[in-house]
Amino acid sequence: MVFRHSLLVVHVLVMSFLSAAGAEAQLSRFQFAQAHMGTEFRIVLYASDANAASQASDAAFSRIAELDTIMSDYDPGSELMRLCQQAGGAPVKVSADLFRVLTHAQELSRRSEGAFDVTVGPVVRLWREARAVRQMPDPKRLAEAVKLVGYENLRLDAQTQTAQLLKPGILLDLGGIAKGDAADQAIAVLKSHGIFRALVGGAGDIAASGPPPAKEGWVIGIAPLDPRKKPERFLLIHDGAVSTSGDSEQHLDVAGVRYSHIINPKTGMGLTGRSSVTVVAPNGITADSLATAVSVLGPERGLKLVKSYSGTGVLFVVETEQRVRSYEARFPENRKQ
Ligand code: AMP
Ligand code: MG
Repeated sequence: MVFRHSLLVVHVLVMSFLSAAGAEAQLSRFQFAQAHMGTEFRIVLYASDANAASQASDAAFSRIAELDTIMSDYDPGSELMRLCQQAGGAPVKVSADLFRVLTHAQELSRRSEGAFDVTVGPVVRLWREARAVRQMPDPKRLAEAVKLVGYENLRLDAQTQTAQLLKPGILLDLGGIAKGDAADQAIAVLKSHGIFRALVGGAGDIAASGPPPAKEGWVIGIAPLDPRKKPERFLLIHDGAVSTSGDSEQHLDVAGVRYSHIINPKTGMGLTGRSSVTVVAPNGITADSLATAVSVLGPERGLKLVKSYSGTGVLFVVETEQRVRSYEARFPENRKQ
């Protein structure tokens, strides 16, 4: 099975079922896919029968759909967009789901010195328009949008579970974090249905529980910079997550320069120069958001940030005119196929 995402093709090579001792011997492999959050989410799981597998996967997909109705910035009726309509006003009580994601985002904003910033929404919108018409965003509008960006303008209060946007016009964008969180939440739902060997992936964001029966882990193949290429590197994961960020699919080319959909919140510019960042972490919300943050920070500061989180590792591949360079820290060894 192939996971397509912004920079890497992640081939999940699920090895054929091997019979094992005891109850494990009864498990069979099932695979499901549904469209959510503007991408295809896939679930691979081991269950005792087709009924158990489809009940569990239905519940997991419903959970992802529920999170989409909360976090979407495309749907004006989402909880996120309703919160943004209150920008400049009083604190707003939000759901536990939205509060969890915003809290994680804000911590990463602090730790990355604002490289990750969910208040980047007004700028993301301009770049989306720019990609649609294949023209650079208007500099004046971009400058106005950048003035609204700044994670300090989002205030959270854990006691009251409220969020407050301090300036009118602020728009939140959870595109760099929501899919990893959704994968985590789907894994949790599968566990509540008695499924403990599963993998959930939405585009470049993958989370896993236990490995396939009699295996050490799920094999993830990574093809940095070009999703059409064969994976060069393979890693095994279980009870953890892997996410990738990059520009191979969503970008704008103007006058020979490629601008990524990932934005430097300080300048409002799409990142230039081709790069691909893969992060492994104990959970999807961490892997997804870190991969986006590290893309903005660059190899040196990015690797330092990843190393400050326990149980994480990173592979950063950059293409220059001369050559491709890789930087890595605590990234799992290559498991050749
Ligand atoms: P990902 O593919 O996970 O790296 O997420 C990229 C998406 O995150 C973009 O399409 C935007 O919606 C959003 N985004 C872009 N730049 C940033 C940033 N600096 N911090 C947080 N989110 C961002
Ligand atoms: Mg991300």
